[in-house]
Amino acid sequence: MAYDFDLYVIGAGSGGVRAARFAAGFGAKVAVAESRYLGGTCVNVGCVPKKLLVYGAHYAEDFEQASGFGWSLGEASFDWATLIANKDREINRLNGIYRNLLVNSGVTLHEGHARLTGPNEVEINGQRFTAKNILIATGGWPQIPEIPGHEHAIGSNEAFFLKELPKRVLVVGGGYIAVEFAGIFHGLGAQTSLLYRGDLFLRGFDGAVRKHLQEELTKRGLDLQFNADIARIDKQADGSLKATLKDGRVLEADCVFYATGRRPMLDNLGLEHTGVKLDKRGFVEVDELYQTAEPSILAIGDVIGRVQLTPVALAEGMAVARRLFKPEQYRPVDYAMIPTAVFSLPNIGTVGLSEEQARADGHNVQIFESRFRPMKLTLTECQERTLMKLVVDADTDKVLGCHMVGPDAGEIVQGLAIALKAGATKQHFDETIGVHPTAAEEFVTMRTPVAD
Ligand code: FAD
Ligand code: NDP
Repeated sequence: MAYDFDLYVIGAGSGGVRAARFAAGFGAKVAVAESRYLGGTCVNVGCVPKKLLVYGAHYAEDFEQASGFGWSLGEASFDWATLIANKDREINRLNGIYRNLLVNSGVTLHEGHARLTGPNEVEINGQRFTAKNILIATGGWPQIPEIPGHEHAIGSNEAFFLKELPKRVLVVGGGYIAVEFAGIFHGLGAQTSLLYRGDLFLRGFDGAVRKHLQEELTKRGLDLQFNADIARIDKQADGSLKATLKDGRVLEADCVFYATGRRPMLDNLGLEHTGVKLDKRGFVEVDELYQTAEPSILAIGDVIGRVQLTPVALAEGMAVARRLFKPEQYRPVDYAMIPTAVFSLPNIGTVGLSEEQARADGHNVQIFESRFRPMKLTLTECQERTLMKLVVDADTDKVLGCHMVGPDAGEIVQGLAIALKAGATKQHFDETIGVHPTAAEEFVTMRTPVAD
């Protein structure tokens, strides 16, 4: 049968754009459908605008610290509307770049909501198209628990477009987005509390990292409330919000921001017209080749719920394009040693196993740790401390994990990730000459393991 396209991609986000562009580059006839914004979550309501807001929030402490270096500034003031307008302009520019990337690589762009009408057919804007392969790359959507009054709360999508910076914010959740946005709101001057339902936020990260960040955020005056969760939200006559906690306490705020995970975006996707199955958590079930239960349909990125990070969606998109249209270049995605950063203030950068995970996996673990005051702060009043930590297998000398909390942790960990991927041992770290004076050199100068 002759199809309209070799590949029809639903969703022009990180994974979809990568798969579409490369498939077209390999000679395939490709279309991509996008219902909202080119570049998807990362470009429009994720990594990029988030990082711009984090940069914005960081200026508060830069101004404070400048006096230690002899600078005197007038009283600093901040204008949220300017930051948001400039951010929007930059995102518009990136949307245009994504459009050009797709069009210039020969991909047909369909703007509208796409729906599957069969295993090889998609409907969009009232038209139907057939395709030999269909790729679901529809990403995810913020998930807010349906407590009474949840309609008064916002998620990350809305946070990027608030008209004003709220004076008092309650951030609910203890994952990446909660920690990053608590830092943004606090840094920009809002009175901010982070409410997390468990004992300590950032479950799954190294214990020392979680504790260190807790201490640093507390030092900065961010109100961290653990074992705290909201039971109901009520809007008051003056427009402010009243949050009643499960333990009966009542907190007042102008904004309640939920960052409690993301669900797969499957709304009105027409999966019922196909044999695609969902896993227990409701994400699209795929095998190791991203094949769904329907042979002609594949899925990648956040919608499969493996690792919800842009570089992972990119790698999966690339793997699909190669396997279908350039099989001689196909390499499976390696999910081991994925580096990641939390752009809290200060940042977390991490790659490999946490100490807890390494012990649980049965490694005979040796720990190296360094805590210090960054040089840049020595002329300032700021008491922030940096943490660096190596988790080493004492039997093989292999470095199993590198963890950092401190300025530019994400930048530093990217390089270390290459070393760990190449199987670096502690001896390799020891034999590496440091770059002086940097914080990063501490990773190659830690000599004495922490006593058990
Ligand atoms: P998406 O990028 O979500 O793209 C899916 C696209 O499909 C969307 O454009 C959507 O409009 C479109 N779509 C959905 N349904 C349809 C349909 N039926 N028809 C047509 N189009 C449709 N990751 C990092 O690595 N680093 C970070 O710093 C980072 N920060 C983040 C901050 C926030 C606030 C959030 C929410 C996420 C962040 N992420 C970060 C995660 C990252 O954004 C995602 O992992 C990544 O965007 C997933 O890519 P994707 O291609 O799977 O989906
Ligand atoms: P996460 O899964 O990281 O965290 C969700 C948090 O919400 C957890 O602390 C979880 O608690 C808590 N939670 C879940 N359900 C409830 C509930 N019903 N009531 C109260 N608390 C609840 O999700 P995020 O929304 O923060 O981010 C989604 C994903 O996006 C991340 O996992 C990450 O992959 C990606 N991302 C990456 C970034 C980066 O690379 N810098 C930045 C932002 C997002 P518990 O731990 O107890 O389950």
